[in-house]
Amino acid sequence: MPELCEILDVSINDLFSGEIVDMKNNEKVLEEHLLEMTRLKEEKDRQLLNLEWVIGFTSSITFITLIFIASYLQMQDYIRIILIVIGFITFIFGMINALKIEQVAGYYECSECHHKYVPTYKSVFIAMHMGRTRYLKCPKCNKKSWNKKVLTK
Ligand SMILES: [Zn+2]
Repeated sequence: MPELCEILDVSINDLFSGEIVDMKNNEKVLEEHLLEMTRLKEEKDRQLLNLEWVIGFTSSITFITLIFIASYLQMQDYIRIILIVIGFITFIFGMINALKIEQVAGYYECSECHHKYVPTYKSVFIAMHMGRTRYLKCPKCNKKSWNKKVLTK
């Protein structure tokens, strides 16, 4: 069989397949698909993080505005209470959703071993933070450090 392959100038793989299998081209196409998928995920994560900002900003402004109205304008007390409750609910609902987006969009990078990972919602929720940089425990090296939010893996 190897001699036959040599005469025909094909590989054994081609002989069994009954056609010339272009492996190099296959790998290239696969690689291009992977790159495209990575690019799309990055783009989607970027849009999600923008949305997080919009949700955070809108719910904070709503909260502050309602508390301000309830504090300074003339109205009956039960209306004040309703406004404050609505303000709180909007704020808490907004923050829960904004945090969910921050947890799933992109990755956190360990500043010790540079491992990139998606942490659990609970660990993000309880972590200290400065903007999107959070004090988290890396699942790879188990060290606690300030982990930056990154979009590429
Ligand atoms: Zn680490």
